[in-house]
Amino acid sequence: MGQEKDGLTVKKSEDFSEWYTQLMIKAELADIRYNVKGLPVYMHWSTKSMKKMYRIMENILENEGHEPILFPAMIPEQNFKLESEHVKGFIPEVFWVTEHGNNEKLEEKLALRPTSETAFYQMYALWIRSYRDLPFKRYQSGTVWRYETKATRPFFRTREVHWIETHNAFANEKDADNQVIKDMKTTEEFLVNKLAIPFIFFQRPQWDKFSGAVNSFAADALMPSGKVLQLPSTHFLGQKFSKAFNVKFMDKDKKEKYVYITCYGPAISRIYGALIALHGDDKGLILPFDIAPYHIVVVPILFDKTKTKVLKKADEILRRLNDYDIFMDKREEYTPGYKFNEWEMKGVPIRIEVGPNDLENKTFTIFRRDINKKYAIKEKDLEKEILKIKKEFTSNLIKKTEVEFKNNIKEAKNFEEMRNIIENEKIARVCFCSLDKEGENCATKIEKELGAFVRGKKVGKIEKPFRNCVICNKKSKEVVYVAKSY
Ligand SMILES: [Zn+2]
Repeated sequence: MGQEKDGLTVKKSEDFSEWYTQLMIKAELADIRYNVKGLPVYMHWSTKSMKKMYRIMENILENEGHEPILFPAMIPEQNFKLESEHVKGFIPEVFWVTEHGNNEKLEEKLALRPTSETAFYQMYALWIRSYRDLPFKRYQSGTVWRYETKATRPFFRTREVHWIETHNAFANEKDADNQVIKDMKTTEEFLVNKLAIPFIFFQRPQWDKFSGAVNSFAADALMPSGKVLQLPSTHFLGQKFSKAFNVKFMDKDKKEKYVYITCYGPAISRIYGALIALHGDDKGLILPFDIAPYHIVVVPILFDKTKTKVLKKADEILRRLNDYDIFMDKREEYTPGYKFNEWEMKGVPIRIEVGPNDLENKTFTIFRRDINKKYAIKEKDLEKEILKIKKEFTSNLIKKTEVEFKNNIKEAKNFEEMRNIIENEKIARVCFCSLDKEGENCATKIEKELGAFVRGKKVGKIEKPFRNCVICNKKSKEVVYVAKSY
């Protein structure tokens, strides 16, 4: 096998699906050959980044007053039956554990958690007693299982999802509303500032809410395939679950009241899928600085005569930059060119080369993956240059992705224009009769004819409708966004 065989053989713009599939294996991200359908193995290169993502998100949540907690992965069937809308929405996707040992039936079926409302709130009913206990904010990092019937794809859509879920209880509606707004800010801080993923937060239509929620808000990002991917969502559950699970507290006025609940679910494995799909290019991955397994890889250019001196200089680089996650690639069985391609494919932000010429000129050669440029710097400027790249790297990525995202949202005046936009793999902005129940028929028509979905209305500044509904031609209440989705 020639060494050049290991690169990607397809361009991202020509065949995104094949590009993504090759990247999974060649960059050692995921392997779908594990013998349970829909459950990929996440390999070391993606796992190292996802662990960093967990740490960043957990820090943000803890700074915001959430405490960590660990619930059992199994939930008894009876818990699901307490909240009727929740059970309707989730039961079709649940994996059930029904027996142990040699075909011995369990007394009660146990669900592998598809989400944990029905586990958390029965305990909240025991723990929350008084207004002094509120707000009560907890988060759990873990795994959920859902029996997806649509085609699965590593990271994007799988039957096992690595995620974080928060469950918060409040004394009144206003505090709960504020938490939903905070969750959206947390999403912005994580997705935009750390991962350079542009998105829109939508209030979902009433027919597309989280089962059991009063209102659902979800961040949609647009993938290169022209489909949107739902990233973190936050839900205002009101008192539906607190009534079902009897989560009450004694308020200051000595009256017993039900708490208001919110929950928030950033799916780490899904977000990772979004960022590799958005930032990658024909060479492979480009990883945002903070979550790259290595920020820097040092490649010494080794020849017999100068090897000792070059390695000594490379060691000096490691010492000087030991605040970073840095790795020295000393492997002698591969050529420097092979190593360059490999680390570029794996999306390492910075490569530092040092060879005999650098020794002579007192320079280092730098390659940065955000702009794909190689240049020499003076030895003494090393720390300064790396710090500069660190500061610029992720903001260079967001500048690029934000422009692409904005250019892919187009306004449609009628059905034909909307069809064109959807067929050209973009998001259509249209006027729409209603996001309440009475608009569902129009949404179903869009789904049937275009395979696209009404994602909801933009959160924040209210957008005024400028014409009648794009489907039924009745007076519009909303401006909505329509796209295909994963
Ligand atoms: Zn309509």
